[in-house]
Amino acid sequence: MTTFDVIELSGSPRERGVAHGEALADEIAANVETYLTRFAHEGVAADTAREQADEFVPLIESVNEAYAAEMRGVAEGSGLPLTDVALLNVRYEVIYTAWKERTERRAAGEASVADAGVDGCTSFGVLPSASADGRTYVGQNWDWLAPIAETIVLARVRRPDAPDHLVFTEAGIVGGKAGVNEHGIGMGINGLTSPRDGANPFRKPIHVRCREVMDAERLDEAMAPIVETHRPASANFMLGSADGVGQGGSRAGGGEVIDLETAPERFAHLNPTNGILTHSNHFVDDGIESLTEGRGPSTMYRAARLRRHLTAERDDGGVTVAGIQAGLRDHFGRPSSVCSHVDESLPEEEYGQTNASLVIDLDGRRIHAVRGPPCGGEYETYELAA
Ligand SMILES: [Zn+2]
Repeated sequence: MTTFDVIELSGSPRERGVAHGEALADEIAANVETYLTRFAHEGVAADTAREQADEFVPLIESVNEAYAAEMRGVAEGSGLPLTDVALLNVRYEVIYTAWKERTERRAAGEASVADAGVDGCTSFGVLPSASADGRTYVGQNWDWLAPIAETIVLARVRRPDAPDHLVFTEAGIVGGKAGVNEHGIGMGINGLTSPRDGANPFRKPIHVRCREVMDAERLDEAMAPIVETHRPASANFMLGSADGVGQGGSRAGGGEVIDLETAPERFAHLNPTNGILTHSNHFVDDGIESLTEGRGPSTMYRAARLRRHLTAERDDGGVTVAGIQAGLRDHFGRPSSVCSHVDESLPEEEYGQTNASLVIDLDGRRIHAVRGPPCGGEYETYELAA
């Protein structure tokens, strides 16, 4: 199946969580197993991972009470322990802590400790000046553990007191990753790694920040939850806004995209060049030491290739949705390509691929998406307003 199921979540945080848990109980349980297997492969026993997850529950309560309530609702609706639901919601923080320990053991001379495979992801942003239809786009290929392709969904979230949004998420995780809200705020996310990841994991988790991006009415409000406090681990955020207010007399155009490269205590931003921005899994900013290139060298060409493709599209009449989709199906370097496939030379626990390909139309509040590698199916269109 290359189409997405859409779950409808509305009402109070608890009610949304219960609906999520009831709709996806089997998928959430499968994700818990997948991540416990992955954590074990990284040297983190199930008990240790669960202890860490438990410690995050009061932290999430203190930084975002509604998120915690929604997480409790997921546990209630799915019949799974809150610990296991929390485990999914802080899986970045658990895995980065494991990577931190691995890096330290290697530094101490334990050469037998292998480097972890890092998740991929190639993301983009297109300004109205570069798109054929004058709209603003963001999106990505989301590359991660292959079994997760079976348990991802789109969630249409309707909230009485905060913006409605349509997001892509993993079953059990409250804060979606790529998505768009009713104000035309859009987001994509890619993995990054830098030396201080996981050194102080007990900070506002990355998925909580993703939800807070979808709470924003303006681009600066979307950026704030990412940059205003120190982070548990590195991550890249591709953000965009189709500004409903308009640009007045400015010739800069009516939309904006910006990329935030974040390490735990530092961050950098990238603006579009000639209307186009692309990113993969390494820090472009020279001020932050980047570790991903040594673990997954394809990051050094994936963003460059997507940029070159989108630039050619722009010069050939403007970037179209079909043009973006063609770029996301690029097989140069397969399996380590923009359209990423399983590398069967790796241990099975590290099998990864493009699990979702998403082109987000911020003006239209809609997502064109394929589940799994985008070469395997046609993009379907999912509307926030449906
Ligand atoms: Zn492919």
